[in-house]
Amino acid sequence: MGQAKNRGTQAERIAQAQAKIEESRPEKLVCNGCGGDVTTINPVSTRGLRGIDAIWVGQCECGQTTFAASGEPKAVDAFFFALSENSELTLGRQNKDGAEHETA
Ligand SMILES: [Zn+2]
Repeated sequence: MGQAKNRGTQAERIAQAQAKIEESRPEKLVCNGCGGDVTTINPVSTRGLRGIDAIWVGQCECGQTTFAASGEPKAVDAFFFALSENSELTLGRQNKDGAEHETA
């Protein structure tokens, strides 16, 4: 039986990267909509986003989606700028059934 050397398999590296991300998980986010605590927080892939270490998305009970990002300040700024530019896409009300327009 050969001794398995520390090969650093891809699975291990992914697990390590995920553990690192989990460490940076915020305890809670503050909702952009109602100012309440958002504790349902999920990591978002940062692939292709240079300088961003982690992105978190929280779904508040009020329906508002709140993002948090960590990394280089410039990259984080750019991320939030891109989000605001695409606000109808990613922020605010999700319009599941299409038709209804509600004013928040
Ligand atoms: Zn809220």
